[in-house]
Formats: sequence, structure tokens, C-alpha cells
Amino acid sequence: MTTRNTNQRLKILEYLRSVHCHPTAETVYEEVRKELPAISKGTVYRNLQLLTKQGKVMRLEVNKEYRFDADCRCHQHFVCTGCGRIVDIHDEQIGKQALRRFKSSECFPESVCITFKGKCKRCR
Ligand SMILES: [Zn+2]
Ligand SMILES: [Zn+2]
Repeated sequence: MTTRNTNQRLKILEYLRSVHCHPTAETVYEEVRKELPAISKGTVYRNLQLLTKQGKVMRLEVNKEYRFDADCRCHQHFVCTGCGRIVDIHDEQIGKQALRRFKSSECFPESVCITFKGKCKRCR
């Protein structure tokens, strides 16, 4: 692993930690490129994959698109069907309740990802 690679990966992580918009890989590329003009799209995609595998970044699929989230704490999301905005929902009880209510002799869930859909304040 060269220093350059590590530096690129750090910049990607830094960018993701600075925003709450759950950007697509394309947006990550556009933003990181402003600081690292030489970075290629392939590098950004590869690093996002690696960061996801390392558990430093969460990948969610919304409207058939992958979105990235550097907030790896257990939280849920609200997706606006109007503008596509993704809002974090930090309500531990929602997840805990869902886990408590789920009963199965075959599956043993440890976490839950709930996506709420509807219209945000601006789109209503
Ligand atoms: Zn909206
Ligand atoms: Zn989130």
C-alpha cells in the first residue's frame, strides 16, 4: 500500500464524514476531485468498496443506486419520494422494537435497517 493510496482513501473518508447527504459514488468522485484532481473514478469506486468492507462506511441502496454513509452507528433512514433526500433517523427505540417484535426459530437478527418513505417538509 503506497502513501498516495492511503491519502486518497483518507480524503474520501474525510469527505464522507463531513456530509450527511448520503452521496452516490459519483458525487464522492466529483467532490474529492476538487482536492485531488488526479484521482480517477475507478480509484474512488475501489476505495468506497474497501471502506465498506472494512466497516468504516455503510452502503445503502436507494432507488437502485448505492449511497454512502460514514455514520456506522445503528440508525434508520427516511427517503423522500419527491426529491430523493435521505434523512438520518437516530431513534434507537425503532430498531430495538423491531428486533424485539421479530420472532423466528430460524433467524437470529442482530441489527435492522428500516427505510421510511414519504415526502419531506419541502416536498409536501
Ligand atoms: Zn423532498
Ligand atoms: Zn445515514
